[in-house]
Amino acid sequence: MSACIFCKIIKGEIPSFKLIETKLTYSFLDIQPTAEAHCLVIPKYCGAKLHNIPDEYLADILPVVKKLTKALKLDVNNTPSGEGYNVLQNNGRIAHQEVDHVHFHLIPKKDTESGLGVGWPAQPTDFEKLGKLHKELQAALADIDEKL
Ligand code: 5GP
Repeated sequence: MSACIFCKIIKGEIPSFKLIETKLTYSFLDIQPTAEAHCLVIPKYCGAKLHNIPDEYLADILPVVKKLTKALKLDVNNTPSGEGYNVLQNNGRIAHQEVDHVHFHLIPKKDTESGLGVGWPAQPTDFEKLGKLHKELQAALADIDEKL
C-alpha cells in the first residue's frame, strides 16, 4: 500500500476539500494555505518530480488550474494590475518540496503579505556565457530527440 499522503487523498483514505477531479487529475484546498484559496492540483500518478510524470497527466493539469482561476474570480480584472496569482511547482528539498508527489500550487496574490514571496537572484546579462550554454543545450536536446 502506498505511503504517499497525496495518493491517500486521491483514494479518499485521507479527507480533502476536493475541487475538480478528472480521469487524470485531482485538485483540493491546501490545508496550510499561504493565501486564502491556496489550491493544489496533482496528477493521479505518483512521481516525486516533474520529469517522473507521463506527458498525458501533465497535459491534463494546466486546464484544471485555469478552470480554478475562473472559479476563484482571478480572471475578472484581466489587466496587469488586476488580481494576481502564482502557479508554483517545487522539485526536491532544495527547491522547497515537502511532499514527494508532484503538485502544482495555485496561489492567489492579492497583497504583498499573503501568498508567494519570491527571491530572484538575477545576474547581469552575459551573452558569451549564454551563447556557450545555448550550444550545449541544443546538443543535449538533439540527443534526447534522437532517443525518442
Ligand atoms: P511543497 O512544499 O511540497 O511544494 O508543498 C506541499 C503542500 O502540501 C504544502 O503547502 C502543505 O500545506 C500541503 N499539504 C501537506 N499535507 C497536506 C494534507 O494532508 N492535505 C492538504 N490539503 N494539503 C497538505
